[in-house]
Amino acid sequence: MMPATLVVKDGRFAEIRAGDPGSSDAVLHDFGDAVLLPGLIDSHVHINEPGRTEWEGFWTATRAAAAGGVTTLVDMPLNCVPETISLEALEAKRAAAKGKTWVDWATWGGVVRGNSDCLKPLATAGVPGFKCFLIHSGIDGFAWVDEGELRWALEQLRGSGLPLLAHAEVAGPVEDATGSLRSRNADWRKYANYLASRPDAAEVEAIALLVRLAEEFNTPIHVVHLASAKALPLLTEARQRGVPITVETCTQYLHFAAEDIPDGATEYKCAPPIRTRENCEALWHALAAGVIDFVVTDHSPCPAELKRREEGRWDLAWGGVASLGLALSVLWTGMHHRGLGLERLAQWMATGPAHLAGFDGRKGALAVGADADFIVFDPDPRWTVAEEHLHFRHKISPYLGAELRGRVRETRLRGEPVYRDGQFFGEPHGRELVRQ
Ligand SMILES: [Zn+2]
Repeated sequence: MMPATLVVKDGRFAEIRAGDPGSSDAVLHDFGDAVLLPGLIDSHVHINEPGRTEWEGFWTATRAAAAGGVTTLVDMPLNCVPETISLEALEAKRAAAKGKTWVDWATWGGVVRGNSDCLKPLATAGVPGFKCFLIHSGIDGFAWVDEGELRWALEQLRGSGLPLLAHAEVAGPVEDATGSLRSRNADWRKYANYLASRPDAAEVEAIALLVRLAEEFNTPIHVVHLASAKALPLLTEARQRGVPITVETCTQYLHFAAEDIPDGATEYKCAPPIRTRENCEALWHALAAGVIDFVVTDHSPCPAELKRREEGRWDLAWGGVASLGLALSVLWTGMHHRGLGLERLAQWMATGPAHLAGFDGRKGALAVGADADFIVFDPDPRWTVAEEHLHFRHKISPYLGAELRGRVRETRLRGEPVYRDGQFFGEPHGRELVRQ
């Protein structure tokens, strides 16, 4: 951390120098002792528009992002209708986003059974990469792929530089565990039973397959939302050998532990599930050691009815944790507690995800030539999350009531203020980013 002057011209950083501005005829903004960070990038969110806009949408998601210092969102291709698995669907999404985005956005394309002909057209149209599932996705229109179909997709992507993102759980261990819980008439209100239904083995087996394929095809594969620390030795070893595999984890796996989750509290439901406290500490360790590349939210909201909170049945509730806008404070709270320095935030929440999406040099860095997206962050205040802090559509989140540290004071997109101390400014000027 050091005093610095950022010079913004035409929406980009034109110059960055240490110390005070000195004499200048430019318009000066003094941010005092607050910390300036690059605008954050959340490369794993479910915006749900078009088609499920009553779950979330561009307007609400991008406002929630802006309030949390996130200046670029990359949408997952499955929860919208049509799913982003063809060029027509991408065009429908672009039309739906028009005039509604408070921050910049992009969307991953989808790899599903039977859409292999659509990958090249989507890549040409600028999607930064593709997402697939190795297990039922929860959305019937977004079919999961087996090893044969994965091989076909990797054949298409080889040499393009575009990463294949994979939901890394395989079905076998989940089906076995769920079957045995059902045959014992397990109580599905109990969190321990939901956790047992999605065992570590499902992640470990999936990641072993992905490592093998990334190496064989020499094509980048990215493991989304790693929850199981049991897969870390496999990933560490693969990365040491130079296999092009990267990995993210999510704020909920770093902040919560299974031991503390109340039975029936389905706002915590996500897949893979939040695991034990010991597992959580191992994820922190891997993040600090650089085995985990970065942190995203996997913000995946839905209307209250689908969370079925009254019944509290983990097997029936929609899976997905809503948290967009809170991630910086959540991560910083955990870092502060573990003695990790602020300077690592930029790598874990901006530079890392920018690199995955191929936005290096344009986004996620305080660097000359990059878009002047930056945030003013006060790392000291402690606060309690309340509904008024949530700007996404449905105010349901396991973070309600959480005690956090650090607040985003101001968010600027291409030099212009979008958000400051609870207020939004101007019109939604976010743009779609395409891979160049
Ligand atoms: Zn997701």
